[in-house]
Amino acid sequence: MKSLNIIFLGRSGSGKGTQLSLLKKIFNLVEIDTGFLLRSFIKQKNSLAKNINLLIQKGELVPTWLVVYLWLKKILNAKSQKGMIFEGSPRRLSEAQILEECLNLMNRKFVVIYLNVSEKEVIRRLSLRRICSQCGQEYSLEFNPDLTHCLKCGGKLIRRPDDNPKAIKNRLNYFKKDIIPVINYFRKKKLLIEINGEGPVKEVYQRIVKQL
Ligand code: AMP
Repeated sequence: MKSLNIIFLGRSGSGKGTQLSLLKKIFNLVEIDTGFLLRSFIKQKNSLAKNINLLIQKGELVPTWLVVYLWLKKILNAKSQKGMIFEGSPRRLSEAQILEECLNLMNRKFVVIYLNVSEKEVIRRLSLRRICSQCGQEYSLEFNPDLTHCLKCGGKLIRRPDDNPKAIKNRLNYFKKDIIPVINYFRKKKLLIEINGEGPVKEVYQRIVKQL
């Protein structure tokens, strides 16, 4: 069976991470979450990590060469028979073209899923999002209102530093300026599947699976 490769696009807080963890299990996919890779990268003690951390905290995009470096290392090490699922990449047209070329040269056919959720709804969801300070697992207070510690590792749950109003505004801005052109690029190539990402998690999941 040919491997399934998925690129997941959508506003911050559109539920990409939640849907990805469900799809990953049933389709046995390697997860490539650029935001997660960056949050591990900035734990280093050097000027680059410090400056990249500042950009993330402000809700701005980091340079494309860094994200390409991080996901390339992962995809070169992935087993060829396993499919991949990308979350958080690509976020600029230049990154999209690099990723597309890379997947084509690896003979990996891919589809792009755009999880469409309104600005109003993502702002609500981001205000309820918490993250484990140790392992990075994400939770929503909507489904776990009393949770204070991670169910996986026991780490303390915190608000992501970039889930503040100013950074959220910037992230919604780069969505319009940089990610919409990526969506249009793949739409023109007929590689895009647009999914209504509003409503219960299970329903959104069923909409995605139906299209795959
Ligand atoms: P996320 O966890 O996907 O919300 O990503 C958190 C932050 O990491 C983003 O707001 C950006 O600052 C940075 N980031 C993640 N992916 C990319 C990317 N592909 N290109 C540039 N910056 C990125």
